[in-house]
Amino acid sequence: MQQQLIKAEKLKAVEQMGAAISHEIRNPLTAASGFVQLLQDDYLSRQKRKEYLSIVKEELNSAERVIQDYLTFAKPSLETYEELNVKSELRQIINILQPLANQNSVEIITDFSVIGFIKGDGQKFRQCFVNVLKNAIESMPSGGYLTISTEFTQSFVTIKVEDTGVGMTNEQLDRLGEPFYSTKGKKGTGLGMMVVYSIVRAMDGSIWVESEIGKGTTFLFEFPTITAIMKKEQTIRA
Ligand code: ADP
Ligand code: MG
Repeated sequence: MQQQLIKAEKLKAVEQMGAAISHEIRNPLTAASGFVQLLQDDYLSRQKRKEYLSIVKEELNSAERVIQDYLTFAKPSLETYEELNVKSELRQIINILQPLANQNSVEIITDFSVIGFIKGDGQKFRQCFVNVLKNAIESMPSGGYLTISTEFTQSFVTIKVEDTGVGMTNEQLDRLGEPFYSTKGKKGTGLGMMVVYSIVRAMDGSIWVESEIGKGTTFLFEFPTITAIMKKEQTIRA
């Protein structure tokens, strides 16, 4: 069992990620477009046609996955800084992921504190937790439990995400959040956790991870409450 506090500042490279991500999307699109060109040949054998079509499909899926990890909620609007009701935000995200959970026979259990307001960009917050919960569900391909609970104090809202999935080795834990690090082969982007760390950092939050191979993984997130933010601002002004 390893416990680790990963400071959100781990990923300074994130600022340059926009360019890298557009590159990650462009690559498969270029490949797909190349094969579409080949498909325009009238004399292509049935066999080749089938093969090329499946490559095109795979490449398009690949681009789609990058977009999912990065832009699920992106709207063409300016970044917002709003009051977020943690409970209702999490409910929305769970609704989105319920079909994926059903597909993997994952049961989602929730235990939310009544109140809990933090400040941040709603879109980004939802992207962050979609990525975390998606990984948790994907870590349980033959079923399991995903428990999401929240607690709040005057200073912090904590969000705990526990799965009974495959777990991570120490090396995997160390590399968590590294851009393009994935153990999912062609099905992974390795961008999800990087996005998570960058969003949590932007919200002044912290992340703890605990994992054990074959047992599961627990992520703990801590965000300053609105009361805590107001206090801090008063101290700065005074
Ligand atoms: P991807 O999901 O595309 O592989 P992520 O950045 O979302 O990329 O995650 C990186 C890696 O971290 C995953 O490939 C997986 O090895 C590991 N990981 C993240 N969350 C979990 C989890 N809940 N259980 C087990 N492994 C996880
Ligand atoms: Mg992921």
